[in-house]
Parts: sequence; C-alpha cells; structure tokens
Amino acid sequence: MKILVVGGAGYIGSHMVKFLMQQACNITVLDNLSTGHADAVPAALLHKGDLADVDSLDALFTQHQFDAVMHFASFSLVGESITDPARYYRNNVSNTQNLLDTMINHGVYQFIFSSSAAIFGEPEYLPIDEEHPKNPLNPYGRSKWMVEQMLEDYDRAYGLKSISLRYFNAAGADSDGSLGERHNPETHLIPLLLQVAAGQRDNVTIFGHDYQTVDGTCIRDYIHVHDLCVAHWRALNFLQMHKQSEQFNLGNGSGFSVQQVVDACRTISGIEISTTYGNKRVGDPISLIADSKKAKRLLTWQPKYTSLHEIIAHAWCWHQQQLEHK
Ligand code: UDP
Repeated sequence: MKILVVGGAGYIGSHMVKFLMQQACNITVLDNLSTGHADAVPAALLHKGDLADVDSLDALFTQHQFDAVMHFASFSLVGESITDPARYYRNNVSNTQNLLDTMINHGVYQFIFSSSAAIFGEPEYLPIDEEHPKNPLNPYGRSKWMVEQMLEDYDRAYGLKSISLRYFNAAGADSDGSLGERHNPETHLIPLLLQVAAGQRDNVTIFGHDYQTVDGTCIRDYIHVHDLCVAHWRALNFLQMHKQSEQFNLGNGSGFSVQQVVDACRTISGIEISTTYGNKRVGDPISLIADSKKAKRLLTWQPKYTSLHEIIAHAWCWHQQQLEHK
C-alpha cells in the first residue's frame, strides 16, 4: 500500500504516520509545516510542499503511484475562522479541491478525509448520529461540510471513493510518550490545562459557566488519537473492500463537561491548575456527543481508550517528557 498522508506532520497526522509504518505501509508525507512539526515524522518520508502549488502536487503524483490519500491538512481554529474566513475557505476548501483534482488526474480514487463534529452545529438531539442535520455554526465547520458535499459530487461524477471521518474532540498522545499535541498557539482545552500543570502557563479561562448543563460548562466527547488512527486504518480497508463512500462519526459516546476535564487534569497531574471563568466562546455548541454505532458496525471499530483519565494520562506523560527534554 502506497499512501500519501497530507498534513502528516500535524497532531493527528503524525500519529497516523507512525501507525501506518507499524502496518508496513509505504508512506509519503506532504506537509507545508505551517502548523506541523518536521521532527514529528521521519525525515526520509517528509516532502515539504503546499496544496496551493498544483504543479508541485502534480509532480509528486507523477513521481509516486499512490494507492490512497489521507488528508489531515486543514486549519482548525474556530475563532480564527470567524475573523479570517478567507484563510479557511482557501486552505480547507480550495486546496482540498486541488488535491482531489490531482488525484483524479492521476487515477487515484481512494480518499480518507478528516472531517469534524463542527459540521453539525448546535445539536438537535444527542448523541449525534450521521443523519443529524448539518448546520455548522462557523466557517471552520462550513469548510468541512463543503468538502463533504464536494466528495459526494466527485464520487457521482468521477468515481472518487471517500470516507469522511467526523472527529469529536481528539485528545491524548502516543502511549509511549513520543508524540503528542503541540499547537502554536495552543487553543485546545486539555493541552492548555496540562501546560498550566507543567508550569508553562499561568491559568486557563473556562469559556462560559451558565450553559444548561450539569455544572454550567460545555460538554464534549473526547476520543483518543490512537483510536482515531485505528478508525482511519479500518476506513481504508473498508474502501478497498467495498469501494463505497461513507461518513462516520467518531467519539467515545460519553460527554464530559469542561469542569470535569479540569478536575481530571488536576487529579492526574497532582497540581492545582488555576482556572477562571470567562465569557462564552462564539461558535461553541453547548454539547457534542457522538453516536458511533455506524463505525462500530461497518468498520468493526471499537475505541480502546474509553476512560477520560487514561486519555489525559497519556497526554500528561507526553507533556512531562517534553519538560525533561528541555
Ligand atoms: N475551552 C475552554 N477554555 C479554553 C479552551 C477551551 O473553556 O481555553 C472549552 C471550549 O469552550 C469547549 C471545550 O473546552 O467547550 C473544548 O474546546 P476545544 O477548543 O479543546 O475543542 P473544540 O470543542 O472547540 O473542538
């Protein structure tokens, strides 16, 4: 299997690359390193390049006969997508179209797409299954939904088979502590809290505490990055076997409030992480919980790390290793 992993130097992409190497796949990583890290993937696999550069993309596909493409390269900051939507539509939509067009020109018809729970918007019911209405609340979510719709059209017209995997809240780190979540700037809850625990940040603001939830803070469904990688692998096998496009929601199926995540991070690190209450974040749904029955049924996928504590413990292990290497 020769696989192009676009965005393979990023958080989820780099875990995927490591996973695929363990499956003895032949991998090329395409990453512009705008948010990814060169040291997150073996140097020999990394091809630095941008999806906006269609000539280089074409040359890469001429050089390698890929069997499939996994696409992790997108911007994912909800707030930034509201203030600078052009950046999101250009990168997440137009550049993805460049990639799809190049695939078709070179006869590559298997595509795994990193989609998001952000396509659903404010839930009309919980847990959220694949059929739930799609009403994204922000340009980030809309960019993901646009690509999903593009994929439907490309299948119908050109026979491009794809699987869209809608991640809920990706979290955790490689269990051996070698890879983890490293964004700059960091905006995600768990790494922010663990940065405070590690002494790299003073405080985390909790965005809103008067939501209609158990303790007034937002509810999210945290899914371990390893379990996402397994789902990608199963999705690829499914595509090869059934040659049929599909969409799957990927989460653990249980929701935790921001306050519960704070408490879990305090327990695991043993450090009294400082938090303060702030305003609600624009574009934040109250509660997102996945119904992943379809993935369990069709992909025979079963999350291994269903405990929030275990997910955070792996992330904390990685944060501690980072401190040791400084
Ligand atoms: N959150 C927060 N403070 C922060 C970052 C996040 O209270 O500094 C909350 C956010 O409002 C959401 C949850 O934590 O309810 C998870 O946010 P994150 O940005 O990690 O992921 P998202 O759900 O936006 O994909």
